[in-house]
Amino acid sequence: MVIGAGSAGRYGAKAAAKLGAKVGLVETGPFGGLCILKGCMPTKAYLRSSELIGLLKKAPEVGIYPGKQVGIRFDQIKQRKDKLIAEMADDAHKGIIRHPNITLLSGRARFLSDKEVQVGDARYAAEKFLIATGSRAIIPPIPGLQEAGYITSDEALELESLPESMVIIGGGVEGTEFGQFFARMGVRVTLLQRSERILSHEDEDVSEALAEFLRRDGIDLRTGVREVMIERDQEGEWISFEEHEKVQRVEAEVIMLTTGRTGNVEGLHLEAAGVKTHPLGIIANDYLQTTNPNIYAAGDVTGGAQIVNMATYEGDIAGTNMVQGPVRMADYRVFPRAVFSDPEFAKVGLSERDARERGIPVRVGKFPFSDLGKAIITDRTEGFVKIVADPQRGEILGAAVVGAEASNLIHQAAIAMHFRSTLEEYAKISHIHPSLAEIMLYLVDEMIGKE
Ligand SMILES: Cc1cc2nc3c(=O)[nH]c(=O)nc-3n(C[C@H](O)[C@H](O)[C@H](O)COP(=O)(O)OP(=O)(O)OC[C@H]3O[C@@H](n4cnc5c(N)ncnc54)[C@H](O)[C@@H]3O)c2cc1C
Repeated sequence: MVIGAGSAGRYGAKAAAKLGAKVGLVETGPFGGLCILKGCMPTKAYLRSSELIGLLKKAPEVGIYPGKQVGIRFDQIKQRKDKLIAEMADDAHKGIIRHPNITLLSGRARFLSDKEVQVGDARYAAEKFLIATGSRAIIPPIPGLQEAGYITSDEALELESLPESMVIIGGGVEGTEFGQFFARMGVRVTLLQRSERILSHEDEDVSEALAEFLRRDGIDLRTGVREVMIERDQEGEWISFEEHEKVQRVEAEVIMLTTGRTGNVEGLHLEAAGVKTHPLGIIANDYLQTTNPNIYAAGDVTGGAQIVNMATYEGDIAGTNMVQGPVRMADYRVFPRAVFSDPEFAKVGLSERDARERGIPVRVGKFPFSDLGKAIITDRTEGFVKIVADPQRGEILGAAVVGAEASNLIHQAAIAMHFRSTLEEYAKISHIHPSLAEIMLYLVDEMIGKE
């Protein structure tokens, strides 16, 4: 029995069904899961529109003058997104219902014991379970927030028109992507971030580059923010906060929260099944078993990286292990991920900062796009590539790309890492000239002193 038909649940159900199990897949919401309905796909559909606005602004640099005023039809942007995700959800649905070993059940599942769940009025028994119920936005206890009202990414994707101004609280991945989108749509955006840097878990040069991109798009970026509260006076509603010990006030039509997500465990009645949790979700081991070895958990609900490539990977492993016993172990060494800012940021494996904090000796190389032929001729010279390598053998342990096509370029490093390639080995691979991909080769050549 698989609970939740998002990315992790569908992959888990298919893996178990392929091995011959009879699988019940329970879904309480509209079919599709977060990635298709309210996550990766709708946001990236929106970002395509804001990316084009960015390109039009840069067009005069390459001799193209698109006119003074760029017209934005937000209703059309939303309709396009709605149509695309409906088609994707439909395709995913077909992929499940045509499967002979999978029965899709509609309703909210809740454990009655470690062998039985209730879905609506019906009860279903199973030998093994997979919990893949995803995540929900964390709502921080900000004074005055409930009275003032707020939106999360879910509602931001359903706005029918653009507000004039917006305060986004939280400078992580979502805050960065939505902030840039709305700013390019002409919304006055203020972004509040508690730490001194946005994307505070990343390397300092990465955070600084992305902050610069956001500022350039007109975002009023405030860092080191404390004591946020919503106040109301005769003039209207204000968001007040301390910024480096000084009290500041901003006005906004819409408050958007991008303060992280936590696993969906409420209402599952996990106690009945002997499944234990940590503050951000369900505890699972590397076989994706929970504290009850017959019950597995995968995807966002475990409170891990919360990216879809990890949800599908974990779902697949859990689905296999449910049928064959705990035979497959998750390996998190190579997991590329991206922030779809413009220009983008992507990384894989060990970062320079991780290495420093964990005391791992590494060799770090960095190469700017401004020294790359293809970047120069196509006017995409911002950003850099970094490689983190083992100082002795030269094995590539991690990479980061800030710049054009980062979410694609990072796969070169991911593939190299998968095969445990050294810098010397990588340098033997021929790259197309001129291409953005060459940046990786130039950096590797520099690191091994070959150029
Ligand atoms: C705005 C946004 C943008 C994102 N963009 C990206 C991106 O570009 N790239 C990327 O890799 N990741 C992105 N993510 C993250 C990605 O969407 C998630 O990591 C991934 O979709 C999680 O998949 P999942 O299967 O764990 O959960 P979900 O897809 O959320 O599936 C869980 C399912 O369980 C159902 N459910 C919950 N409780 C019950 C119950 N009791 N009974 C039955 N069913 C239940 C839910 O209705 C849901 O359909 C984004 C997330 C957000 C919020």
